[in-house]
Amino acid sequence: MPDPSPHVTDLGPLDATVELLRELVRAACVNDGQELSGQEVRAVRVLQRFFAEAIESGRVETQVFEAAPGRASLIVRVRGSDPAAPALGLLGHLDVVPANPERWNRDPFGADLIDGEVWGRGTVDMLYLTAVFAAVVREVALAPAPPRGDLLLLAVADEEAGGEYGLKWLLREHPGAFRVTEALSESGGMRLGAHVAIDIAEKGSAGRRLVVRGTPGHASIPYGAKSAAVLAAEVLQRLARVEPSIELGELWRPFVEARIEDPALRERLLDPVRLDAALPELGGIAGYAHAVSRVTISPTVLRSGKAHNVIPDEAHIDLDIRTLPGVTDEHIDLLLIEMLGDLAGGVEIQHLKGWFATASPADNPLFAAVCDAITATDGSPVVPIMAAGGSDARLFRMLGIPAYGFGLLSEGWSYERYRERIHAHDERIDVRSVELTLEAARRVVAARIG
Ligand SMILES: [Zn+2]
Repeated sequence: MPDPSPHVTDLGPLDATVELLRELVRAACVNDGQELSGQEVRAVRVLQRFFAEAIESGRVETQVFEAAPGRASLIVRVRGSDPAAPALGLLGHLDVVPANPERWNRDPFGADLIDGEVWGRGTVDMLYLTAVFAAVVREVALAPAPPRGDLLLLAVADEEAGGEYGLKWLLREHPGAFRVTEALSESGGMRLGAHVAIDIAEKGSAGRRLVVRGTPGHASIPYGAKSAAVLAAEVLQRLARVEPSIELGELWRPFVEARIEDPALRERLLDPVRLDAALPELGGIAGYAHAVSRVTISPTVLRSGKAHNVIPDEAHIDLDIRTLPGVTDEHIDLLLIEMLGDLAGGVEIQHLKGWFATASPADNPLFAAVCDAITATDGSPVVPIMAAGGSDARLFRMLGIPAYGFGLLSEGWSYERYRERIHAHDERIDVRSVELTLEAARRVVAARIG
């Protein structure tokens, strides 16, 4: 891997990456799920300035796509010399979730750099990585010789709301706009014991709306009416009692062995019968362990009734259901019918938008390069894990393109701390984590396409 080009900027590569991160935070591409929120075009302009020299000298090809006004995504491509080599995509989203400034100790969009930490919404999820990806692509673009394979920065809008105005839209509307054969994205670098965790799989989402029907009536004469609201309460009670079975996939054992030192506790966690009784001993990681060992069902939205004096004939219960690999829509519907029991006849199950769980193989040259890069940078072994939530990486996996999380956070970034910081007040990242991630990213890129 050639040296980064110091003439691009007066700053060294790490400082330049940190400055880029700060500018991306200040771009404040807040995505609240509305079509015209986000306005990622602001972050795209920041990146276009960052790449100005590479663009002017023709070292990169760039394309901007706009799914809706202001919902821009930028693709930067460094062309490789060998068409048979891998085409590596570095996928970073530009949008961030909203922040309530009153609950922050600093301006969430001020990008203050204090005591070696950059403060701001999106610093951890995932602007630090987007900045690192951009920095590495620029270094490769400005190097004296071209890389072997193509290197692409995919800086996309709307990840936080499912990619309808970002990667999902791009893959649907412009399937020929870019070609990648493998990809890296967010969710990685957290410490699990002595290991560094990298996501190679994600749970799926099978949202459901339960439509509960009753018999309406005037509220002043309730006799003979059957309130859908009361029925919905009964449905919720039954939901609270349902316990989807424990399914320990192939990533469970590596997770337990990486994170748990006590052999007796390990053994209990590896036994589906004793697992739940051991969860309280896991502290801050219990929620994650619970989530990745089963399908979960969380009632989130409840609606019934329109007027104070009318007994409602309909209630809606929205369920956020997260699935494991191999779980089908039929499985979920059967589980719900079983749970409803004798109420099933009066309840319609509607499907909300969702996606299947996805996994990339642990036995893959890109993943091997990620493991080697992290170990070479930091000395830590890598443990592959499954994410309980979803990210844009699934969209590549669904196309058969292997996609992995990435990152190398500094000491002290336990998985728990990572979970606590993202989407939370006072989100911030230390410069050391940016530095480690930059170094590991260079190594991966050199190994795959350098
Ligand atoms: Zn994210």
